[in-house]
Amino acid sequence: AAKTAGKRQWRHYHPDLQSGMAERAKLQEGLDSSPIDTSFMVFYQPIVELTSGQVSGFEALVRWPHSTRGMVLPEQFITLAEESGQIVPLGAWVLNQAAAEAARWQESVQREGGADFVQPYVSVNVSPRQFRDAEFYRVIRRVLDLSGIQPSSLVLELTESVLMYNDERILAEMRSLTDLGIRIAIDDFGTGYSSLSYLREFPISILKIDKSFVDELGRSPEQYALVEGITHLADTLGLTVIAEGVEDVRQQELLTSMGCRFGQGYLFAEPVSAEEAEQLLLAQPLGLATLPDAPADWN
Ligand code: C2E
Ligand code: MG
Ligand code: MG
Ligand code: MG
Repeated sequence: AAKTAGKRQWRHYHPDLQSGMAERAKLQEGLDSSPIDTSFMVFYQPIVELTSGQVSGFEALVRWPHSTRGMVLPEQFITLAEESGQIVPLGAWVLNQAAAEAARWQESVQREGGADFVQPYVSVNVSPRQFRDAEFYRVIRRVLDLSGIQPSSLVLELTESVLMYNDERILAEMRSLTDLGIRIAIDDFGTGYSSLSYLREFPISILKIDKSFVDELGRSPEQYALVEGITHLADTLGLTVIAEGVEDVRQQELLTSMGCRFGQGYLFAEPVSAEEAEQLLLAQPLGLATLPDAPADWN
Protein backbone atom coordinates (compact mmCIF):
# COMPACT_ATOMS: atom_id res chain seq x y z
CA ALA A 1 0.00 0.00 0.00
CA ALA A 2 1.05 3.57 -0.59
CA LYS A 3 0.45 4.67 2.94
CA THR A 4 3.02 3.77 5.55
CA ALA A 5 2.95 4.33 9.28
CA GLY A 6 4.65 7.29 10.86
CA LYS A 7 4.89 10.97 10.29
CA ARG A 8 5.21 10.86 6.55
CA GLN A 9 2.08 9.16 5.39
CA TRP A 10 3.15 8.62 1.85
CA ARG A 11 6.04 6.86 0.28
CA HIS A 12 7.39 8.34 -2.92
CA TYR A 13 6.81 6.65 -6.21
CA HIS A 14 10.06 5.68 -7.93
CA PRO A 15 9.47 3.52 -10.99
CA ASP A 16 12.54 1.60 -12.08
CA LEU A 17 14.00 2.54 -15.39
CA GLN A 18 12.97 -0.78 -16.87
CA SER A 19 9.25 -0.17 -16.41
CA GLY A 20 9.34 1.93 -19.57
CA MET A 21 6.54 2.42 -22.04
CA ALA A 22 3.82 0.36 -20.39
CA GLU A 23 4.16 2.15 -17.07
CA ARG A 24 4.32 5.46 -18.87
CA ALA A 25 1.11 4.69 -20.74
CA LYS A 26 -0.58 3.72 -17.49
CA LEU A 27 0.56 6.91 -15.81
CA GLN A 28 -0.73 8.93 -18.75
CA GLU A 29 -4.06 7.16 -18.54
CA GLY A 30 -4.24 7.78 -14.80
CA LEU A 31 -3.38 11.40 -15.33
CA ASP A 32 -6.02 11.88 -18.03
CA SER A 33 -8.71 10.44 -15.79
CA SER A 34 -7.73 12.45 -12.69
CA PRO A 35 -9.94 15.47 -12.08
CA ILE A 36 -7.53 18.30 -11.38
CA ASP A 37 -9.42 19.86 -8.46
CA THR A 38 -9.39 16.72 -6.35
CA SER A 39 -6.42 14.63 -7.49
CA PHE A 40 -3.37 16.76 -6.80
CA MET A 41 -1.71 18.46 -3.88
CA VAL A 42 0.63 21.40 -3.63
CA PHE A 43 3.55 21.24 -1.21
CA TYR A 44 5.65 24.21 -0.18
CA GLN A 45 9.35 24.51 0.47
CA PRO A 46 10.62 27.54 2.38
CA ILE A 47 13.08 29.88 0.72
CA VAL A 48 15.21 31.32 3.48
CA GLU A 49 17.76 34.01 4.09
CA LEU A 50 20.95 31.98 4.44
CA THR A 51 22.48 33.94 7.31
CA SER A 52 19.39 34.11 9.53
CA GLY A 53 17.28 31.17 8.38
CA GLN A 54 14.42 33.65 8.10
CA VAL A 55 11.71 32.46 5.69
CA SER A 56 11.20 34.93 2.85
CA GLY A 57 8.84 32.87 0.74
CA PHE A 58 7.86 29.40 -0.40
CA GLU A 59 8.21 27.46 -3.63
CA ALA A 60 5.03 25.63 -4.64
CA LEU A 61 5.68 22.04 -5.77
CA VAL A 62 2.90 19.88 -7.12
CA ARG A 63 2.36 16.25 -6.05
CA TRP A 64 0.05 13.52 -7.24
CA PRO A 65 -1.02 11.27 -4.38
CA HIS A 66 -1.98 7.98 -5.95
CA SER A 67 -3.78 5.06 -4.33
CA THR A 68 -1.33 2.40 -5.48
CA ARG A 69 1.76 4.29 -6.57
CA GLY A 70 2.16 6.46 -3.50
CA MET A 71 3.17 10.07 -3.83
CA VAL A 72 4.02 10.59 -7.47
CA LEU A 73 6.63 13.34 -7.83
CA PRO A 74 6.48 15.91 -10.63
CA GLU A 75 9.46 14.43 -12.46
CA GLN A 76 7.21 11.43 -13.23
CA PHE A 77 4.24 13.32 -14.61
CA ILE A 78 5.01 16.92 -15.58
CA THR A 79 6.46 15.87 -18.93
CA LEU A 80 3.42 13.71 -19.60
CA ALA A 81 1.11 16.57 -18.67
CA GLU A 82 3.08 18.85 -20.97
CA GLU A 83 2.73 16.44 -23.86
CA SER A 84 -1.01 16.04 -23.37
CA GLY A 85 -1.60 19.73 -22.72
CA GLN A 86 -3.01 18.98 -19.27
CA ILE A 87 -0.23 21.12 -17.82
CA VAL A 88 -2.26 24.18 -18.83
CA PRO A 89 -5.26 23.58 -16.51
CA LEU A 90 -3.05 21.81 -13.92
CA GLY A 91 -0.64 24.73 -13.86
CA ALA A 92 -3.52 27.20 -13.48
CA TRP A 93 -4.83 25.15 -10.57
CA VAL A 94 -1.40 25.16 -8.87
CA LEU A 95 -1.18 28.93 -9.32
CA ASN A 96 -4.59 29.43 -7.73
CA GLN A 97 -3.80 27.12 -4.82
CA ALA A 98 -0.45 28.74 -4.20
CA ALA A 99 -1.82 32.28 -4.30
CA ALA A 100 -4.68 31.36 -1.96
CA GLU A 101 -2.15 29.88 0.48
CA ALA A 102 0.03 32.96 0.26
CA ALA A 103 -3.00 35.08 1.15
CA ARG A 104 -3.64 32.87 4.20
CA TRP A 105 0.00 33.00 5.34
CA GLN A 106 0.04 36.74 4.97
CA GLU A 107 -3.07 37.07 7.09
CA SER A 108 -1.49 34.91 9.80
CA VAL A 109 1.75 36.86 9.73
CA GLN A 110 -0.17 40.11 10.02
CA ARG A 111 -2.26 38.73 12.86
CA GLU A 112 0.75 37.38 14.77
CA GLY A 113 3.34 39.96 13.89
CA GLY A 114 1.60 43.14 12.81
CA ALA A 115 1.38 45.05 9.58
CA ASP A 116 5.09 45.86 9.29
CA PHE A 117 6.25 42.29 9.20
CA VAL A 118 7.57 40.52 6.18
CA GLN A 119 4.92 39.12 3.89
CA PRO A 120 6.03 35.77 2.46
CA TYR A 121 5.83 35.41 -1.30
CA VAL A 122 5.03 32.30 -3.24
CA SER A 123 7.09 31.09 -6.18
CA VAL A 124 5.38 28.91 -8.77
CA ASN A 125 6.92 26.77 -11.53
CA VAL A 126 5.53 27.52 -14.96
CA SER A 127 6.17 25.15 -17.84
CA PRO A 128 7.02 26.50 -21.32
CA ARG A 129 3.75 25.26 -22.78
CA GLN A 130 1.78 26.94 -20.03
CA PHE A 131 3.67 30.20 -20.45
CA ARG A 132 3.14 30.22 -24.21
CA ASP A 133 -0.58 29.57 -23.87
CA ALA A 134 -2.61 32.52 -25.15
CA GLU A 135 -4.69 32.62 -21.96
CA PHE A 136 -1.75 32.77 -19.54
CA TYR A 137 -1.94 36.47 -18.81
CA ARG A 138 -5.68 36.23 -18.10
CA VAL A 139 -5.07 33.25 -15.84
CA ILE A 140 -2.58 35.31 -13.85
CA ARG A 141 -4.94 38.29 -13.57
CA ARG A 142 -7.61 35.98 -12.27
CA VAL A 143 -5.22 34.36 -9.78
CA LEU A 144 -4.41 37.82 -8.40
CA ASP A 145 -8.07 38.89 -8.29
CA LEU A 146 -9.30 35.72 -6.62
CA SER A 147 -6.57 35.53 -4.00
CA GLY A 148 -6.20 39.23 -3.40
CA ILE A 149 -2.41 38.95 -3.05
CA GLN A 150 -0.18 41.73 -4.30
CA PRO A 151 1.58 40.99 -7.59
CA SER A 152 4.85 41.52 -5.69
CA SER A 153 3.98 38.41 -3.66
CA LEU A 154 4.01 36.22 -6.74
CA VAL A 155 7.13 34.87 -8.42
CA LEU A 156 6.97 32.83 -11.62
CA GLU A 157 9.78 30.33 -12.19
CA LEU A 158 10.69 29.78 -15.82
CA THR A 159 13.50 27.70 -17.24
CA GLU A 160 16.04 29.00 -19.72
CA SER A 161 14.37 26.96 -22.45
CA VAL A 162 11.52 29.49 -22.56
CA LEU A 163 13.94 32.27 -23.46
CA MET A 164 16.02 30.38 -25.96
CA TYR A 165 14.29 31.53 -29.09
CA ASN A 166 14.46 35.20 -28.24
CA ASP A 167 10.88 35.41 -29.31
CA GLU A 168 9.26 38.86 -29.31
CA ARG A 169 6.03 37.41 -28.00
CA ILE A 170 7.78 35.84 -25.03
CA LEU A 171 9.42 39.16 -24.25
CA ALA A 172 6.09 41.02 -24.54
CA GLU A 173 4.37 38.45 -22.32
CA MET A 174 7.08 38.78 -19.70
CA ARG A 175 6.90 42.56 -19.78
CA SER A 176 3.13 42.58 -19.33
CA LEU A 177 3.55 40.36 -16.25
CA THR A 178 6.42 42.32 -14.73
CA ASP A 179 4.53 45.56 -15.42
CA LEU A 180 1.93 44.22 -13.02
CA GLY A 181 4.67 43.82 -10.39
CA ILE A 182 5.14 40.08 -10.67
CA ARG A 183 8.74 38.87 -10.50
CA ILE A 184 10.26 36.32 -12.82
CA ALA A 185 12.88 33.82 -11.71
CA ILE A 186 15.08 31.67 -13.91
CA ASP A 187 14.91 28.15 -12.50
CA ASP A 188 17.78 25.65 -12.65
CA PHE A 189 20.04 28.48 -13.75
CA GLY A 190 23.22 27.27 -15.40
CA THR A 191 21.86 24.01 -16.77
CA GLY A 192 20.45 25.39 -20.02
CA TYR A 193 22.25 26.35 -23.16
CA SER A 194 21.01 29.85 -23.77
CA SER A 195 23.30 32.82 -24.10
CA LEU A 196 23.79 34.98 -21.04
CA SER A 197 22.69 38.06 -22.95
CA TYR A 198 19.09 37.16 -22.20
CA LEU A 199 19.71 38.32 -18.64
CA ARG A 200 19.79 41.88 -19.94
CA GLU A 201 17.10 41.48 -22.57
CA PHE A 202 14.38 39.92 -20.44
CA PRO A 203 12.85 41.42 -17.30
CA ILE A 204 14.25 38.88 -14.84
CA SER A 205 14.59 39.48 -11.09
CA ILE A 206 15.84 36.22 -9.66
CA LEU A 207 18.31 33.47 -10.58
CA LYS A 208 17.89 30.10 -8.94
CA ILE A 209 21.24 28.33 -9.00
CA ASP A 210 20.70 24.70 -9.83
CA LYS A 211 21.28 22.09 -7.15
CA SER A 212 23.97 20.38 -9.24
CA PHE A 213 26.25 23.39 -8.68
CA VAL A 214 25.47 23.57 -4.97
CA ASP A 215 26.22 19.84 -4.57
CA GLU A 216 29.80 20.26 -5.72
CA LEU A 217 30.55 23.49 -3.86
CA GLY A 218 32.70 22.13 -1.07
CA ARG A 219 34.40 19.53 -3.25
CA SER A 220 35.77 21.49 -6.15
CA PRO A 221 37.42 24.93 -6.28
CA GLU A 222 36.31 25.25 -9.90
CA GLN A 223 32.70 24.76 -8.91
CA TYR A 224 33.09 27.27 -6.10
CA ALA A 225 34.49 29.79 -8.56
CA LEU A 226 31.62 29.16 -10.94
CA VAL A 227 28.93 29.76 -8.33
CA GLU A 228 30.80 32.77 -6.98
CA GLY A 229 30.98 34.12 -10.52
CA ILE A 230 27.23 33.68 -11.01
CA THR A 231 26.57 35.41 -7.70
CA HIS A 232 28.73 38.40 -8.62
CA LEU A 233 27.25 38.61 -12.09
CA ALA A 234 23.77 38.60 -10.58
CA ASP A 235 24.81 41.27 -8.11
CA THR A 236 26.13 43.48 -10.87
CA LEU A 237 22.92 43.07 -12.85
CA GLY A 238 20.78 43.74 -9.77
CA LEU A 239 19.38 40.22 -9.62
CA THR A 240 18.62 38.17 -6.55
CA VAL A 241 20.25 34.75 -6.24
CA ILE A 242 18.61 31.75 -4.62
CA ALA A 243 20.67 28.58 -4.19
CA GLU A 244 18.71 25.35 -4.66
CA GLY A 245 19.25 22.09 -2.84
CA VAL A 246 21.24 23.34 0.16
CA GLU A 247 21.70 20.20 2.22
CA ASP A 248 24.44 20.94 4.71
CA VAL A 249 25.94 23.69 6.84
CA ARG A 250 29.16 23.74 4.83
CA GLN A 251 27.23 24.65 1.68
CA GLN A 252 25.31 27.27 3.62
CA GLU A 253 28.59 28.82 4.83
CA LEU A 254 30.25 28.77 1.43
CA LEU A 255 27.22 30.36 -0.19
CA THR A 256 27.06 33.03 2.48
CA SER A 257 30.77 33.74 2.14
CA MET A 258 30.39 34.45 -1.57
CA GLY A 259 27.49 36.81 -0.97
CA CYS A 260 24.59 34.57 -1.96
CA ARG A 261 21.75 35.71 0.25
CA PHE A 262 18.98 33.16 -0.19
CA GLY A 263 18.64 29.41 -0.39
CA GLN A 264 16.30 26.48 -0.09
CA GLY A 265 16.99 22.84 0.65
CA TYR A 266 16.66 19.96 3.03
CA LEU A 267 19.01 21.70 5.50
CA PHE A 268 16.14 24.08 6.24
CA ALA A 269 13.07 22.09 5.27
CA GLU A 270 11.70 19.65 2.75
CA PRO A 271 8.57 20.59 0.84
CA VAL A 272 5.68 20.38 3.31
CA SER A 273 1.89 20.71 3.27
CA ALA A 274 0.31 24.16 3.35
CA GLU A 275 -0.57 23.71 7.04
CA GLU A 276 2.96 22.71 7.97
CA ALA A 277 4.28 25.62 5.93
CA GLU A 278 2.17 28.00 7.97
CA GLN A 279 3.47 26.45 11.19
CA LEU A 280 7.05 26.82 9.97
CA LEU A 281 6.39 30.43 9.14
CA LEU A 282 4.88 31.30 12.49
CA ALA A 283 7.42 29.29 14.49
CA GLN A 284 10.27 31.49 13.33
CA PRO A 285 10.94 34.90 14.81
CA LEU A 286 8.94 37.15 12.51
CA GLY A 287 11.32 39.82 11.41
CA LEU A 288 11.94 42.65 9.05
CA ALA A 289 14.99 41.11 7.43
CA THR A 290 13.61 40.26 4.02
CA LEU A 291 11.36 42.72 2.33
CA PRO A 292 9.93 41.01 -0.71
CA ASP A 293 9.03 44.19 -2.55
CA ALA A 294 12.48 45.66 -2.24
CA PRO A 295 14.35 43.53 -4.75
CA ALA A 296 16.94 46.26 -5.22
CA ASP A 297 18.25 45.44 -1.74
CA TRP A 298 18.74 41.80 -2.57
CA ASN A 299 21.89 40.29 -3.85
P1 C2E B 1 12.54 22.64 -9.26
O1 C2E B 1 11.60 23.74 -9.57
O2 C2E B 1 13.98 22.89 -9.53
O3 C2E B 1 12.27 22.32 -7.73
C1 C2E B 1 13.25 21.91 -6.83
C2 C2E B 1 13.20 20.41 -6.61
O4 C2E B 1 14.28 20.04 -5.76
C3 C2E B 1 11.93 19.91 -5.90
O5 C2E B 1 11.68 18.61 -6.40
C4 C2E B 1 12.38 19.85 -4.46
O6 C2E B 1 11.62 18.95 -3.68
C5 C2E B 1 13.79 19.37 -4.62
N1 C2E B 1 14.66 19.76 -3.50
C6 C2E B 1 14.60 20.87 -2.76
N2 C2E B 1 15.60 20.90 -1.85
C7 C2E B 1 16.30 19.77 -2.01
C8 C2E B 1 17.46 19.21 -1.37
O7 C2E B 1 18.05 19.80 -0.45
N3 C2E B 1 17.90 18.01 -1.83
C9 C2E B 1 17.28 17.35 -2.85
N4 C2E B 1 17.79 16.17 -3.22
N5 C2E B 1 16.20 17.84 -3.48
C10 C2E B 1 15.72 19.04 -3.08
P2 C2E B 1 10.22 18.16 -6.85
O8 C2E B 1 9.19 18.73 -5.94
O9 C2E B 1 10.26 16.69 -7.04
O10 C2E B 1 10.04 18.88 -8.25
C11 C2E B 1 10.83 18.56 -9.34
C12 C2E B 1 10.62 19.51 -10.50
O11 C2E B 1 9.30 19.39 -11.03
C13 C2E B 1 10.75 20.96 -10.11
O12 C2E B 1 12.11 21.31 -10.05
C14 C2E B 1 10.00 21.63 -11.23
O13 C2E B 1 10.81 21.76 -12.37
C15 C2E B 1 8.91 20.63 -11.54
N6 C2E B 1 7.65 21.06 -10.88
C16 C2E B 1 7.25 20.93 -9.61
N7 C2E B 1 6.03 21.46 -9.41
C17 C2E B 1 5.64 21.96 -10.62
C18 C2E B 1 4.45 22.66 -11.08
O14 C2E B 1 3.52 22.97 -10.33
N8 C2E B 1 4.44 23.01 -12.40
C19 C2E B 1 5.46 22.72 -13.25
N9 C2E B 1 5.37 23.11 -14.53
N10 C2E B 1 6.58 22.08 -12.84
C20 C2E B 1 6.67 21.70 -11.55
MG1 MG C 1 11.39 25.61 -9.33
MG1 MG D 1 14.92 24.52 -9.73
MG1 MG E 1 15.30 21.53 -10.73
